[in-house]
Amino acid sequence: MLLKTLREHFYSSLKGDYPETEIQSFFNLLSECYLKMKGVEVSLNLYVPISGKKTEKFDNAITRLKNQEPIQYIIGSTEFYGLPFKVTENTLIPRPETEELVQWVTDISKSKTESLSILDIGTGTGCIAISLSKNRPNDKVFAVDISKKALTVARTNAKLNKVEVEFIELDILNWNHKVSSLEFKNKEFDIIVSNPPYVRALEKSRMSDNVLRHEPPLALYVDDDNPLIYYKAIAEFAQTYLKNKGQLFFEINQYLGSEMVQLLKDCNFEDVVLKKDIFGNDRMVSGIKIS
Ligand code: GLN
Repeated sequence: MLLKTLREHFYSSLKGDYPETEIQSFFNLLSECYLKMKGVEVSLNLYVPISGKKTEKFDNAITRLKNQEPIQYIIGSTEFYGLPFKVTENTLIPRPETEELVQWVTDISKSKTESLSILDIGTGTGCIAISLSKNRPNDKVFAVDISKKALTVARTNAKLNKVEVEFIELDILNWNHKVSSLEFKNKEFDIIVSNPPYVRALEKSRMSDNVLRHEPPLALYVDDDNPLIYYKAIAEFAQTYLKNKGQLFFEINQYLGSEMVQLLKDCNFEDVVLKKDIFGNDRMVSGIKIS
């Protein structure tokens, strides 16, 4: 099949499912992945024949896209903070809001030239830990996750981006039972950062099908009656493992900004700051630990 025909077939198959600009962007991403051709090259090579094997890959992608599967899972990768990341159905797809969290941590750490010790809790793809490590190569970065499968993806991503991050399996809700036997013994961090699960069941109706049906529930959802469960556990963990004057950074549920500020104040954090994302939603919070 000619590339031109393949493109027409791709566009017409997805027509009623997505807006045209989105179909265009899917085709560009898939061409880059399967044909190693960027958008312009596709336009310049429309009369090149495409093998049956490759056409089959596009057909397979069409079926998955029709099933509302995110394109990042189909091509198996995404970009975060200018870096490539492998993603699988066991990891959340990193979001632009989280890039803003990384930017905030990076900006605040700029004044600190000494080597810092940083911990990312619930690392998923490793996007926060790895992009921080890339930007602060002299710091020692650690990352934990409850999911073995996510940790495997995160380790691959650290290699892919040529950074050293120490990954540890940990269920933060049960840190008290496990931590002493882990590599955490005698450790204290300058910075703890986390983007834990924060979506309540009551918010699911506002979410799109591709998130609801394909992203890992373990990484996303909390009970309506205890939506800050992860934040509470992490703030408690920080009482032991964050240095005095160390800083805690969270990505948060936009509807729970004031509750989050209160939670940090109740846990004796000072200089508590609530920060909006580029969409104007309360999205991040930080505080300094005073012991
Ligand atoms: N830390 C990862 C991210 O920000 C994963 C977060 C999660 O799974 N809740 O994308």
